[in-house]
Parts: sequence; C-alpha cells; structure tokens
Amino acid sequence: MPNRPNMSELELILTGKTERHIHWLTQNVGIHHEMLSAFEQLTLAAKAAGFELCIASGFRSFDRQLAIWNNKFSGITAIKDKANQTLAIEKLSEREKIHAIMLFSALPGASRHHWGCDIDVYAKNLLPQDQALALEPWEYQSSGYFYPLSVWLQEHAKSFGFFLPYDKFRGGVAQEPWHLSYLPLSKEYKKFYSEKLLAETLLSTDIQGKNELLHLLPELYQRYIINTAEA
Ligand SMILES: [Zn+2]
Repeated sequence: MPNRPNMSELELILTGKTERHIHWLTQNVGIHHEMLSAFEQLTLAAKAAGFELCIASGFRSFDRQLAIWNNKFSGITAIKDKANQTLAIEKLSEREKIHAIMLFSALPGASRHHWGCDIDVYAKNLLPQDQALALEPWEYQSSGYFYPLSVWLQEHAKSFGFFLPYDKFRGGVAQEPWHLSYLPLSKEYKKFYSEKLLAETLLSTDIQGKNELLHLLPELYQRYIINTAEA
C-alpha cells in the first residue's frame, strides 16, 4: 500500500501508515517511543502489586488491520456476536456485516492501535497454565482470572497517564477492559483525527464492503470511532 504523497507525518501516524513513532519491545510488540517511560513505570507499579503486566497487542499497522477486516468480511475469519457465537455471514447484508465486525474490530485507518499509544494488556502470572489468552470480557470480570488486575488498572492506571477508552459498552465498540490508552498522546491524536481523513484513506484502499462503508461512514464514525470514554 503506497502512502499518499500528500499525507502529513501526523496523518500517517493517525492511519497506521508509518512505524517511525514506534519502539519495538519484542519482534511483535511495539509502542510509541514517547510512552516508553510511562509504560515502564506502570509495569513496575503493577509488579509491586503482584501483576506481571504484559502487552498482548500494541502498535498495529494499517495493512495488518486491513487484513483482519478483509478476512472477516470475506468469511475467512469467523465473526462472533456478543455471546461469542459465530454468525452465519451468508445471511447478513453488507450493512449488518459491517456493524457485526465493528463491535470487536476497528476499520483500517481508524484503529487506536495505529497510534502506538494504545495497548491491550493482561497479567501473565494470573493466566492459568493450560489456558490460552482469549482477550474476552469474562477473563476480566468478577469471576475471571484477570479480575484483580482489572480492579487495579481502574484504580491506578490514571496515575501513570493511562485510561480505559472502552471501559463500558456505549452502543459502539464492545467493552474492552484490557485496552489502555496513554492520554498525553492519544488526546492529541484524537483531536486531529477526522471523518474526512478516514474517508480519504478508505477511498484509496482495496477494502471489502467499500461502497457500503463509505455510504455509512458518518454513522460509523460517530457510533464506533469517537464514541469512547473521556479520561
Ligand atoms: Zn485494543
């Protein structure tokens, strides 16, 4: 995917088309270089409280998010509903499919993971040995093994600059108790993000459901993209 030559550096960051703002912690996990020290401090405090804080997902590129989207839209990857049941996508209209995907997956160009300052976290030491990480709400709820971490994050993350943009279901994206955002960076990025930038990005993209997406974009933008908690 060639970058549009008229896109500014900021627009490239906002839409996941550059990695220049990313520091790679491992081969797969990268975070914004201006967030390194805040994340280190959060990790140390979590450790002192008994949690081995790990990042399941940090920076995600536009191309990665596009692959996730196209795989779900075309049926290669299952689309689940809120009850974790796989939907019969052949019975869904394009509009229904778009809404079903956006409950759990962002549109390419509209994921806060593009920004590098948003991360999905869990506590490695709380995950049972025979259990694969699911990143599903039940793991973080009162009967789940990450509940103590969830309680701790709600109380302490803000002292390190982090907040939970998907703290509860607001009619758009499902609740994501694992998704942290570093406010000093994300509040700036959110300020400069716009529906126009997203529309331009999608227009120049080979994305499944493109016409319907562009048609629905004003509604999708309000309902899924800017509809988050304010710190
Ligand atoms: Zn996330």
